[in-house]
Amino acid sequence: MAKIPVKLVTWEDIVSWSRELSKIIKSSGYKPDVVVAIARGGYVPARLLCDFLGVDNLLSIQSQHWTEAAKVAERALIKFRYSVDLSGMNVLLVDDIVDTGESLMLAKNFIISEWRPKDVKIAALQWISPVAKLRPDYYLIEVREWYWFQYPWTRLEDTCQFIKRILKEEGVSKREWSFDDIVSKFREHYGIDVGLDYFRDAVEALVSAGVLEEVSGKYILKL
Ligand code: ADP
Repeated sequence: MAKIPVKLVTWEDIVSWSRELSKIIKSSGYKPDVVVAIARGGYVPARLLCDFLGVDNLLSIQSQHWTEAAKVAERALIKFRYSVDLSGMNVLLVDDIVDTGESLMLAKNFIISEWRPKDVKIAALQWISPVAKLRPDYYLIEVREWYWFQYPWTRLEDTCQFIKRILKEEGVSKREWSFDDIVSKFREHYGIDVGLDYFRDAVEALVSAGVLEEVSGKYILKL
């Protein structure tokens, strides 16, 4: 089965990457009046950048593109198109990663035309340079080979999706899975370990969603 290359990112990585990114922004001389987090991936980096840069104003905009782990939807769109007046303000638009760059471009254009700030600059922890249509003004890590970065804020969501995919793909040869089978196949297949709590939460969530059925201690894929 085709493997998605995955890298696990820890909370500690996020804090230190955000600290380093804030230094790059500071040394550029850009002084944001307001930070705008792209929902949902930009929330944590945006909040940390507010702390490291000493910015009080934090807004958010939801620009959605990726529907689930490592699966891209056709088009990005802005949800909740509310209005605010940012005239005279310098905006720092923050996301976790620039992959295609489409959701960021869309958010930037929306902010410029609807919120009318003085300036908008983009900051992201990571930038996938070979595929991105946009280069952020500030980034810490240039990624040259595509990976799905398993960030701490999508750990449960991603674990659910990855388990579902493994069971679907292996379904021809194996129907019933024990919890331990699922965990060891996940570790072997994706090469990362999200920890037992997340594996338990994911299996429980998949059972409640009707994706898995539990029959005498074994799990069967329903969908
Ligand atoms: P951007 O406009 O920032 O490139 P995309 O439209 O490519 O964003 O993706 C939107 C969001 O999907 C990202 O902000 C991130 O939260 C998530 N995402 C996209 N690609 C990846 C990836 N390779 N690894 C982890 N998360 C990703």
